[in-house]
Amino acid sequence: MSTILVYSENPHAAAEMLVAARQLAPSLNASTAALHLGSMSEQDLKAYAAGGAELVYHVDGVDAEKHGPACVAEALANVARNVDAVMVLVAATRLGREVAPRTAQRLKTGYAAECVQLEASSDGLVAYRGVLGGTYQAKLLFKRKPYVVSLQTGRYQPEGSGSQPRVEKVSIEITAPQLELVEIARAESAGVDLEKAELIVSVGRGFKKREDLSMAEELAKVIGAELGCSRPIAGDLKWLPEDRHIGLSGKRVKPKLYLALGISGQVQHLVGIRDSKVVIAVNTDSNAPIMSEADYAVVGDIYKVVPLLTENLKKLLGR
Ligand SMILES: Cc1cc2nc3c(=O)[nH]c(=O)nc-3n(C[C@H](O)[C@H](O)[C@H](O)COP(=O)(O)OP(=O)(O)OC[C@H]3O[C@@H](n4cnc5c(N)ncnc54)[C@H](O)[C@@H]3O)c2cc1C
Repeated sequence: MSTILVYSENPHAAAEMLVAARQLAPSLNASTAALHLGSMSEQDLKAYAAGGAELVYHVDGVDAEKHGPACVAEALANVARNVDAVMVLVAATRLGREVAPRTAQRLKTGYAAECVQLEASSDGLVAYRGVLGGTYQAKLLFKRKPYVVSLQTGRYQPEGSGSQPRVEKVSIEITAPQLELVEIARAESAGVDLEKAELIVSVGRGFKKREDLSMAEELAKVIGAELGCSRPIAGDLKWLPEDRHIGLSGKRVKPKLYLALGISGQVQHLVGIRDSKVVIAVNTDSNAPIMSEADYAVVGDIYKVVPLLTENLKKLLGR
């Protein structure tokens, strides 16, 4: 009988994975086991028991925090090979998201990242994962074993205190990682919390020069808004710090008013503004995707509309 091998550096997350693994085990004709790296406490064992673990492989010589994701992946792949794992299930924690794809690469198999649901079918394992910020759900069918999956936490509830699992010590040699973490430097930050902002004036590539952003900055100042932007403005042009960029790979915002200036409204941007109460877009192109998403779409040139709007708001608000 093969094994579904579960791993997380956090035994409570591993317990959740064990619950998912035990649900799949009968259909995959497999048993379940967890892998624990580094020293193991009574509390760790209790967490595995809560997930219903019968067997925990314990590798003492590798520590996730000390050795990093490459070594963890090597240990996990090594044990997976030794126990003939049909599936390797990793909790999608920050470390897990780094460990799982490396494990798949070492096992020369496919990988499904940050899944929300798993099902066994007669063709193999079916994994479901959100794509484009959760707007769509992808259904993936694994063609090759072992199936390597990271699964979001918080979806499976460990049932409480099960009986103490059997612990089997495993000794493995790992090679030194090819990459060494040299330094972590704090990213340049504007020190704003866009996620909490009630009013956001957001700029896109409709602005031709960095200096032109002063138009939007002035408007934001008059109405007391925070300045946000599309990804190219922060990521490619570096006109604004990264923490002002809104969208799939940036901040998700929910202001009362989102004013999109010269932003086309690609789906990766829209995902980040979905929860805004009112969206006003100013764009020269009436067919830009943002125009059909906005509550108010102004077909116009930001270089004309923004100064006019600022002047009128100044008068109206007495500023
Ligand atoms: C994996 C991935 C993740 C991504 N994540 C993000 C993300 O988190 N956030 C994000 O924003 N993007 C993201 N992107 C990029 C995204 O696909 C778009 O390329 C980006 O949002 C476009 O930025 P923009 O609207 O500023 O520029 P453009 O698409 O170039 O649009 C500029 C708009 O300005 C208008 N315009 C031009 N001149 C004027 C003017 N004078 N007055 C008024 N309007 C004018 C144009 O009509 C056009 O609609 C991601 C892409 C990928 C592949």
